[in-house]
This record gives sequence, C-alpha cells and structure tokens, in this order.
Amino acid sequence: MMEIKIEKAKTLKQKPDFSKLGFGKFFTDHMFVMQYNDKEGWHDAKIVPFDYIPIHPASTVLHYGAEIFEGMKAYRTDDGYQMFRPIENIKRMNDSAERLCLPTLDEEFTLKALETLITLEYDWIPNLPGTSLYIRPFMFGNDESLGVHAVHNATFVIILSPVGSYYAEGINPVKISIESEDVRAVRGGTGYAKCGGNYAASLRAGKRAEAKGFTQVLWLDGVERKYIEEVGAMNVMFKIDGEIATPELTGSVLPGITRKSCLEILKEWGYKVSERLISVDELLTAAENGKLEEAWGTGTAAVVSPIGHLFYKDVDHVVSNNQIGELTQKLYDELTGIQWGKKPDVRGWCYKVKV
Ligand SMILES: *Cc1c(COP(=O)(O)O)cnc(C)c1O
Repeated sequence: MMEIKIEKAKTLKQKPDFSKLGFGKFFTDHMFVMQYNDKEGWHDAKIVPFDYIPIHPASTVLHYGAEIFEGMKAYRTDDGYQMFRPIENIKRMNDSAERLCLPTLDEEFTLKALETLITLEYDWIPNLPGTSLYIRPFMFGNDESLGVHAVHNATFVIILSPVGSYYAEGINPVKISIESEDVRAVRGGTGYAKCGGNYAASLRAGKRAEAKGFTQVLWLDGVERKYIEEVGAMNVMFKIDGEIATPELTGSVLPGITRKSCLEILKEWGYKVSERLISVDELLTAAENGKLEEAWGTGTAAVVSPIGHLFYKDVDHVVSNNQIGELTQKLYDELTGIQWGKKPDVRGWCYKVKV
C-alpha cells in the first residue's frame, strides 16, 4: 500500500473551548493531501500542517465545479475513537467520483489515510456530550487549462473540524418551508452525488427561507415539483398512519448513510417501512387529517432532526404539535447511543481505533 509521508507542524494551535464549537469553524493542526494524474495515478500522499492550498487560476474546479466531498464523524471513546460506517462514505465518494469523471479512491488506502490523520489529531476529538470530530474528505479536478473535458489531474484532501451540535438550539423541532420554485437536482443530473454544485444550486432557496424565519427548505422533484425529495442537506422521513415512508432513491436524492441506518433499525423494530414516491398533496392531506404523526430529517451533521412545521403556499401545517415525536426521539437516542459508544454496536457499524 502507498506510504503516507508525515510532516508535523512546528507549533500547534491553541485548542478552542470545546463547549463553544459550533459547526465547521475550527480546524486541526494537520491535513491529508494526495495528488492524481493519468500517468502516475494517485501519488504523493502526505499529512502536512493545515494550510492554504495553492491553486492555478485556470484550475478546473474554479470554472467548471468539478468537486465532490464527504461528511463523517469520529467520536471519542474511553480508549480511543470510533468512526460510524466509514467504508460506506468511501464507497459513496467513489460513486460521486464516477458521476463527475473524477478518479476513484482505493477503499482500504483511504481508510488508512483517515485513521492515520485522526490518530495524529486525537487530542482534537472533543469529549463533551454531543460533540465529535467532523471529517471532511474532498476531491477536485485540477487541470491547469480552460478546456472543458473530464480531468486528467485531481487533488484529494482530508480536513478535520471539532464540532458541537449542528443546530445551536439542540434537537428541537425545526420550521420547514416547502420550496415550489427552485429545485436542487433532477433525475439524470448529479442529485445522488455529493458534489459542491448541488449545494450552489440550493443556496438561493435556503437564503429566502431563512429570511422568512425557516430553518431549511423541503425540496420537491425537479420535473413535476410534486414529490418530496429531501430537506435541506438531509434525507427526510415521515410516520404516516403508522407507516414509515421516505422518498425512494430515484437518482435525484442523496443516498444518506444515516437514512440507510435508520431504515435498517426501523425494520428491526418491526415498523412497516416504505421507500416510495410521496407527493406533497399526500403529505399535507395526512397533516390535515391528523395522520402525519411525525416527520424528521436524517444526516451525519444533525443525525436526526425533528420537523415541527411544514409551510407550503402560505399555509402552515403543524407536525406533532411542534414537539419531538416519540419515534424521532427513540431513533435519535439509538443512533447517537451507538455512535457515542453508549449502546452496544450489535450491527458492527463502528470502526474502532485504540489510541
Ligand atoms: C450528505 C447529505 C445527506 C445525508 O447523508 P448522510 O450520509 O446521512 O450524512 C443528505 N442529503 C444531502 C443533499 C447530502 O449532501
């Protein structure tokens, strides 16, 4: 396996107050960087002091948005740390790479790169309840020319950021606005890939919703603007008349690892779980008839995030009396219990490292 060179920082930064971390504001002392070109493949893998990345003004990523990323977390345990299903993230990054014509990564080597970097930065894994070390691997096309084509050069980087809870308010029901104008992705496009461009397309609706006092937007499909897709940068699930329903992976929905884990747990718990099309009409009719029992978003950053209000075309629909639903809370407790090492990991989801 390729060797990883380590160049340590001469001076270490002062660590932030772990009780005031916020999300993605602080970065550790080192980062992992590796280069790709067609001739050599991936090469020059190294851990270096955290710093700016020099970039050519004609670099592909700056003009044509050839960028993909992942988001995962490491949690401090009594004798080291653990990551939650890291191989799933690496596999998904390779699916994203394939869609954007970026080079794929060797799974085992990428896991080794993650482990080497996180172990070096162990002291940065915060120890307070609700905190973790957020891991952001990303890759960009880096040809130094303006031609539009699949790239021949790429850069892969991993940076680490100690984080608190995603939402400043903790897990409280959020207010969601159903977006009827902008769309995030369309089938055949890049919706299932975790790429920067999807986010660029989503910012305007997010900004408008925020200005009106909403936390996130609920996306509808890009063709008919009729079917529910995702909520902000999270997958979404509903408990409708006892059934757990979530949008099926049609190509424009991001296949979340938290989504997959929730579905597996819910099936084990004996719920009827359906991955299917859910129209906005069905959802709001269920809300009016009192059949929409709970609604929540799922994603690595917030884990499980209850939805208290759904706003669509000037009408506000309250969900679960704007309280955290019973099942939403149970799912949150189960998943975070496994991730923080407080509940037995019977499914073998955690990748444990002793330090
Ligand atoms: C990352 C992401 C998710 C959640 O995926 P997880 O693997 O659960 O973190 C959902 N939707 C979008 C658009 C995302 O980028």
